[in-house]
This record gives sequence, C-alpha cells and structure tokens, in this order.
Amino acid sequence: MRATRLVDALPASTPFVGPERLMREGGHRELVRLGANESAFGPSPRAVEAMSAELERLSWYGDPDSYPLREALAAKHGCAVEQIVVGCGIDDLMGLAVRAFVEIGGVAIATRGTYPTFAYHVAGYGGRLETVPYTNEGEPDLDALGALAQRVRPAVVYLANPDNPSGSFLPRERVARFYEALPPDALFLLDEAYADFADDDALLEPRFEDHLVRVRTFSKAYGLAGARIGYALTTPRNAERFEKIRLQYGVNRNAQVGALAALQDRAHLEWVVRETAAARDAYAALARELGTTSLPSRTNFVCIDIGDAQRATHVTQALLQRGVWIRKPGAPPLDRYVRVSAGTAPMREAFAQALREVLAEQRAAAS
Ligand SMILES: *Cc1c(COP(=O)(O)O)cnc(C)c1O
Repeated sequence: MRATRLVDALPASTPFVGPERLMREGGHRELVRLGANESAFGPSPRAVEAMSAELERLSWYGDPDSYPLREALAAKHGCAVEQIVVGCGIDDLMGLAVRAFVEIGGVAIATRGTYPTFAYHVAGYGGRLETVPYTNEGEPDLDALGALAQRVRPAVVYLANPDNPSGSFLPRERVARFYEALPPDALFLLDEAYADFADDDALLEPRFEDHLVRVRTFSKAYGLAGARIGYALTTPRNAERFEKIRLQYGVNRNAQVGALAALQDRAHLEWVVRETAAARDAYAALARELGTTSLPSRTNFVCIDIGDAQRATHVTQALLQRGVWIRKPGAPPLDRYVRVSAGTAPMREAFAQALREVLAEQRAAAS
C-alpha cells in the first residue's frame, strides 16, 4: 500500500522534539522548561477562570466563526471582523497560507534556520523552499532575501519579525521598504509571534493588502501555548480563501474563551512583558559574567554565544542531563549559540548554575 508520492518522499523529520519525549527517554521526573519560548509567567488568571467555567460546555463544539474573539481582535487592530482568521496557532495558519498560495512545485523563500514550521508546510504541500543565511550579526538578511525574491519570483516570502531563533527585531521602515520592493506577485507572510514584546509603533504599520498576511499568536506573551490559538490579519479576499480550506471546528471553545479573556487583561500582559525584559537583562548579565556575549533580543528568549556549534550542542545536552531544557539554533552563523527562554528568577538560577558548571567542565577538558 502506497501513500501519495509527495508524502512518501517527505523526510521523516520532526521539527520539534517535545520535552515530554526528552523526559521519557532521559528518565527525568521534571525539567526546567526553557526550550520552547513558552511563557514562564503563565496565562492571565482571568483567562484561566473563563476557561475553567467553559469546561462544563465541552460537549458543544466551539463557534466555528470564533465570532466574539474576532470582534475583539478587529477592535484591537482597527479592522473589520472579515479581515481576521482565527486558527490553531500560527503553525496552523501558516499551513493555510502555504496551501492557499504555493502551487505544487512552486517556490517559497525564507531565512535559513529561522522558525521551522514554514519550511515544514512548504515541504508538506509540495512546494520548494529556497533560503538565504542570516547576516553575521544574526539578523534576517533583507537585502539577500529581497534579491532572492527578484531572482526566483516566489509565491510566498516568509519573515519572522521579531525573529526566532535569533531574537532580532527589524524596525518598521526596514520591513516596509523590503515589503514594498517585493515582486508584485509574491505574498509576504509576516510572522509576528513576538509582536507583543515590541512597541506597536516599531512594528510594520497596520496595512491590509492582498500581498500581506500577518500572523499573531496567544502562545507567547499571553501564555496560552497549550490552548493552540492564533490569528491572521489580512484582506477579506484572503480571509475568504482561508475560509475554504480551514478546519471549521479546529479551534476549540476553551481556547476561544481563554483568548478573549486574555485580550481583556492588559495588566497581565504588561506585567509579562516587564518580567520578560528583566529575564533578558539577567541572561545578558550572565553571558558577561561567563566571559561571552549574547544577541540583542526583542522576544522572550536570548541567544548566548558558546563559541562553536559542537560546544553549543554539548552544552544543550549537558544541561538536559542536569534537568534544564533549552534549545540551540541549527544553522550557521547562529549554530554556535544556545537559545534560552525567559524564565522566572528560580528557573533562571537553575539555568545559570547548570551553565556555569558545564562551561567550567568544558574549559577544564580543553586545558
Ligand atoms: C512560537 C512561534 C510560533 C508558533 O506559534 P503558535 O501560535 O504556537 O503555533 C510561530 N512563529 C514563531 C516565530 C514562533 O517563535
């Protein structure tokens, strides 16, 4: 029995190995979770309360239109309800964008080593991905990406801003100039998973054009990663296209209710953003203490320079043995870094202690 040629030809890749598997395989009873940029500060208590109350209605499907949530999002973004598509996180919405815009055999472009789900969907829907590396400073290389777009005329151009795994942030003017210079038939898929950590007036201004799909999530600053909910901002025309292919009952009712309550709790969001900034500062100070550097970040994680890729891989493994789960970027020039998510003070201390030990061991072994 064969599957489709497309599926049988796909590599058996796992873009994310979850900490649960690492715990099972490594015999850990618990891990300090600093590997997936989840919020260490938790969801809004008002979201938890709303979701708990909603549990009694779990025998009902969620509203397939996610209407109250889309109304609230439309008010937040100053657009119409018809310009918002709610999905099971950005990962889901990116799949819709690729499916809607990349023909089988069509080309999409991105930065090599950036957030992996885009590449995963391009492969899964039969497209072809072309990439350019990050700059040496660890930023997406907009000049190279723009030049590649002119050369290969891609159906979709993917950019995460702020970016994962670098943490870098490109200001409004640079992103606007890049977007405006793209070939007219290219869709710009702008992944703004970390938008809540940046100032609104530093992000690309609100624009609603058929060539632009922006995706946002409740997984990071709002602390609802496990609920799986995010949204796309685009034109009614594109939203209708997504409407034809999206899973109508995909977004569960608890997630809708929780996201709506989270949106209304500004104080919690602002607190998380402040705590996250403190965590970033603490990691930068730790890097200095250890005689190395870290990359500037506008996200809820920081990349710390370990020197080379092999040592960085060893550090992530040795930390895992000590019960601290982090990740590292896979592609040069960022592969010599480890990426650690913002943690609470005790989580940061567990990480710092383990990192000090592991680096001391590495230094002893090298001398
Ligand atoms: C975490 C992350 C996502 C995933 O978002 P979900 O809404 O949880 O699917 C998407 N893009 C980037 C850049 C991320 O870091």
